[in-house]
Amino acid sequence: MKRIIVAIDGFSSCGKSTMAKDLAKSVGYAYVDSGAMYRSVTLYCQRNGLITDGVVDEAALQACIDDIRIEFKFNEEKQRNETYLNGDNVEDEIRTLAVSNQVSIVSSIGFVRRAMVAIQQSYSKDRGIVMDGRDIGTVVFPDAELKIFLTASPEIRAQRRYDELKAKGMEEPFEDILENVKQRDYLDQTRAESPLRKAEDAVELDNGEMTIAEQREWLLNIFAERTK
Ligand code: C5P
Repeated sequence: MKRIIVAIDGFSSCGKSTMAKDLAKSVGYAYVDSGAMYRSVTLYCQRNGLITDGVVDEAALQACIDDIRIEFKFNEEKQRNETYLNGDNVEDEIRTLAVSNQVSIVSSIGFVRRAMVAIQQSYSKDRGIVMDGRDIGTVVFPDAELKIFLTASPEIRAQRRYDELKAKGMEEPFEDILENVKQRDYLDQTRAESPLRKAEDAVELDNGEMTIAEQREWLLNIFAERTK
């Protein structure tokens, strides 16, 4: 069976990572969460006083961008991939609303994107990879054999993020989460650097009314077709 690159792009909280992780596990591919990388850079900025009132000190960040080390390790006990920032496990901290509220600002900076894209591209040496994000099918892997573009309404996506945070004991008001989802949609689609858009050859899926099992089956079918 041919080994391919699978790019899953779409709006925030669309269930991209759930679908991507699930597919990677089912077919024995590596999974990379590119959003976790932008979230880690954002947390780094917050920890080092590089964001003030929503404005990033770009000169200071550029001076240390090469010192930001992001790694993924599989946690056997929790059966999940976890993100490490300079050796520190930040998997839960990068999912907080405090990080979500500033990540679109950091991810709109050109040199940050170039640094992350270079790392993302280095992961694909022998294909066999599933990566999710905003620009995977358009910028990171324009030659990916399978590109998916996911959508769902802002309300459905905010509800999913609310449920996810609540399950982790990090509950936030629904209205704040909905506002964050809408704000990130706007910023991600209108930024000058690699805005969120559907690649021409991507297959679009609105998964708002689909169960996780239905999405899994849909993706496995299309994956099977492309790897024939
Ligand atoms: O996917 P997730 O919601 O964790 O992504 C967090 C943020 O990181 C997005 O809102 C977007 O601003 C940014 N991002 C990006 N390009 C990617 C992945 C994420 O700009 N490939």
